[in-house]
Amino acid sequence: MLATDATNPAFMQRLRHRLEQHDRQGLVRSKLLREGPCQPVQRFADDDLISFCSNDYLGLANHPSVIAALQEGASRYGVGSGGSHLVTGHCAAHHALEQALAEHAGRERALLFSTGYMANVGVINALMGQGGVVLQDALNHASLLDGGWLSRARSIRYRHNDMSSLQDLLVQHQHEHCLVVSDGVFSMDGDVAPLPELTALASRYGAGLMVDDAHGFACLGATGRGVIELFPEHGGIVLSQALPVLVGTFGKALGTAGAFVAGDAALIAYLEQFTRSYVFTTAMPPALALATLASLQVSQTESWRRQRLQALITRFRQATSAMALPILDSHSAVQAVVLGDIDATLAASAVMRDHGLQVSAIRPPTVPRGEARLRITLSAAHSDEQFDLLIRALGAIDEQYRARRARCLDGGGKDGKG
Ligand SMILES: *Cc1c(COP(=O)(O)O)cnc(C)c1O
Repeated sequence: MLATDATNPAFMQRLRHRLEQHDRQGLVRSKLLREGPCQPVQRFADDDLISFCSNDYLGLANHPSVIAALQEGASRYGVGSGGSHLVTGHCAAHHALEQALAEHAGRERALLFSTGYMANVGVINALMGQGGVVLQDALNHASLLDGGWLSRARSIRYRHNDMSSLQDLLVQHQHEHCLVVSDGVFSMDGDVAPLPELTALASRYGAGLMVDDAHGFACLGATGRGVIELFPEHGGIVLSQALPVLVGTFGKALGTAGAFVAGDAALIAYLEQFTRSYVFTTAMPPALALATLASLQVSQTESWRRQRLQALITRFRQATSAMALPILDSHSAVQAVVLGDIDATLAASAVMRDHGLQVSAIRPPTVPRGEARLRITLSAAHSDEQFDLLIRALGAIDEQYRARRARCLDGGGKDGKG
């Protein structure tokens, strides 16, 4: 069937073996075919499900102004940008979006990327090289880890949000070219990086600092500046200036696609020349830049969306506080129920589905082994009724969880999976 099969059966055999192993461990993931827009009620081939697992935190992915901007952009610019930014692809729409982002983030300049993955991989690779040291939070997003490896610098992980673990490494490497890298809001746990401590440590030991605020940008803080707005002023330092490299993405709260890095003019001038995932790739479609600009503007003017999201987060914490389920401490839109065991997590996801809800089971390698979980995401677009249904479904999962725990205690853990 495959040419490789005929020319090199052993090669294909190894791939097949790895895939089969993955399957036996319950790790193979499948795709659901959605037939309509990203919104709370999602249409699939067999049924409609209320989604609690999209990253559309503000409900902007299907917003009329954003759709209209994309259409207008296509009429004005066509579809493709036709080239990389530095050759011929850079349009007025890109420029306007970069300026609006820089202003929103409180920085001198911003630079666009086609995806957050490309921004993270490219920026770390541009800032670091052989002989450098990248210090990564243990729970950083895969794209940040990949960026560290690609850069040929030494990558070292510090314990999650543990500033003494980071400080030990900074002391050890204080005479080297060091970059500290962290998620702003951790994507699978929902907790927030301690930015005041991170900025203080990085500046004390002369290290660079890069924060990827994919899950905070546009949705955290009163005006949506993200994680930096949670710590507006600390010890007289305005955090936005103490945090040299800020990455934000458009595919989450802004409901479009793409990413940016923001910083002072000198940093951006450097990145513009040396970031390979910026230089050697086609600029995003200009219509998408216009749509993202419209989305940023809606997110700024309709602050009720952030307030609604915050209200749902608070209600979620209250409604689940008496449950036995191991729900991580999070005050962001990401709420994780860490069941640990893969089968138990898949079963809980099936219970959600029986209630008409879509909540996906997150398994290794997205999370560490033994930490499989339901990752529930809340959105400003969820109605009260949809939210209540989520809490009822979680109640059912909680009951099963308690029953299973009780059985384990009586039966000496016979099912062995507690
Ligand atoms: C989603 C995500 C990315 C990747 O962004 P894309 O635009 O989807 O490629 C990067 N970092 C974090 C923390 C993310 O959650």
